[in-house]
Amino acid sequence: MHDVLIIGAGITGTLIARELSRYQLDIVVLEKSNDVGNKTTSANSAIIHSGCDPEPGTNKAKFNILGNPMFDELTKQLDVKFQRNGSLTVALSDEELDSLTLLEERSKINGVSCQRLTKEEVLEMEPHLSTNVKGALFFPTAGIVDPFNLCVHAMENAIDNGVQLFLNQEVISIYKRNGIYVVKTKSDEYSAQIIINAAGNYADVIAQMIEPIDWKLTPRKGEYFVLDRLEKDFVKHTIFPLPSKKGKGVLVSPTTSENYIVGPSSEVIPERDDYSTDGLTLQNIRQQALSMVPEIPFGKVIRVFSGLRPSSSRHDFIIEYAKTDKHFINVAGIESPGLVSAPAIAKYVVEELVKPNLIIKPKNIFSPYIRPYAHLNEMSDEERDLLVKKNPEYGQLVCTCEKVTLGEIKDILSRSCPPHSIKGVKRRTRAGFGRCQGGFCQPKIVFLLANHFGISPLEVPLDENDSPILVSRVKEIK
Ligand SMILES: Cc1cc2nc3c(=O)[nH]c(=O)nc-3n(C[C@H](O)[C@H](O)[C@H](O)COP(=O)(O)OP(=O)(O)OC[C@H]3O[C@@H](n4cnc5c(N)ncnc54)[C@H](O)[C@@H]3O)c2cc1C
Repeated sequence: MHDVLIIGAGITGTLIARELSRYQLDIVVLEKSNDVGNKTTSANSAIIHSGCDPEPGTNKAKFNILGNPMFDELTKQLDVKFQRNGSLTVALSDEELDSLTLLEERSKINGVSCQRLTKEEVLEMEPHLSTNVKGALFFPTAGIVDPFNLCVHAMENAIDNGVQLFLNQEVISIYKRNGIYVVKTKSDEYSAQIIINAAGNYADVIAQMIEPIDWKLTPRKGEYFVLDRLEKDFVKHTIFPLPSKKGKGVLVSPTTSENYIVGPSSEVIPERDDYSTDGLTLQNIRQQALSMVPEIPFGKVIRVFSGLRPSSSRHDFIIEYAKTDKHFINVAGIESPGLVSAPAIAKYVVEELVKPNLIIKPKNIFSPYIRPYAHLNEMSDEERDLLVKKNPEYGQLVCTCEKVTLGEIKDILSRSCPPHSIKGVKRRTRAGFGRCQGGFCQPKIVFLLANHFGISPLEVPLDENDSPILVSRVKEIK
């Protein structure tokens, strides 16, 4: 029997697992997908919001404000790209200037640092902004992060501190036997004293496995464009329009990989797994973005994608015990600003909800740091030369667009939370992220994965296990 069982290995579940791994506990994480962070955690705007706009007094405001300052230390410990580039909320009309004042007041109530800028000041900061801009608010504490690697490294750190992760384990039922929870997946059975439900868009389905609930989740889709690397500092800050009832609106932002992102839309949809994109929605995003930044070169789009927000009927994060049992904790409705809030949510869940129900002692040995590995694109020529002399595989390019080497791909395959799919390699190393989108490196990666796991290339998936790349052999070389 395990002490704590976490359902879902998105950023919420993995950071809770890491936080719990500080203690002498037997912890297990069950994830439906063949990788961690494969759902909402890898398909979002990746903004570490300042906390200016959630309604004061809500869980969203509380955890956003607590979470934001935790990112400096967390990303250092977990070796994840993070930059406090600051955000700008711009007003494009005189009426919007009034709304800007309301946002300024709200950010003051939330205790978020904010500076009012005139048209001239904001245009000086961002020369590519529309000259229709009337003024802006500058939030210096906002930032950008690499959300997928944050999740992978959080899981890896938790595993290195003793947590067990089981992938391809979709929870299908939960019940109690002799006062202990039994959790059934399609292939296995687990038991635990405490269950933490961090199942993202399926958290209401999981919660209903033990009792009727008075809240529900509705998927709200956000679609995006990803642009190639543009001129340096095309925009330096994350540019937001004024927030509305539908959310924070279409933003234009640099990413930690030096690309640019434009989006998201905000549409309620009926299906929990519909990640399609559509031309009309993308056209709307494009128009809204161009009204703020008219020179966005949409000819340089290299990808479109979508993510699904688990919007709760309570319009807030639901972080509480099940009504009938303090050994079942729901962490549900974690839509935006869930990424920035996740470290603070994890701390709260452990300190306020787990600790009162379990006698736990800190471990003698806990390391908050992940084991270091080489990032060649952050090294000087001399450092790279030295590394290549030690191991020539760091000199062998696999992805020429993003300059990812064989040595780097082999490194991530040998870590505690390795990828099992092409997408898993791509998100961890950026191989396939560039202009050709994997056209040249994908075949090599198929064979690297196949060799590493001792499987046939036909068994290597693009993403989930039901997404084969190769369907049959055309000829065999003996
Ligand atoms: C369009 C969009 C933009 C956003 N922008 C931002 C932003 O800029 N800043 C910010 O702070 N937040 C943002 N967010 C919110 C943020 O992405 C989420 O709050 C966060 O990723 C939620 O993480 P999670 O771990 O709760 O959910 P998920 O990442 O969805 O993880 C849940 C996991 O549970 C697993 N699971 C589900 N059912 C089962 C089952 N039955 N058995 C086992 N496992 C199961 C899933 O496979 C999944 O891996 C955005 C979200 C979207 C969609």
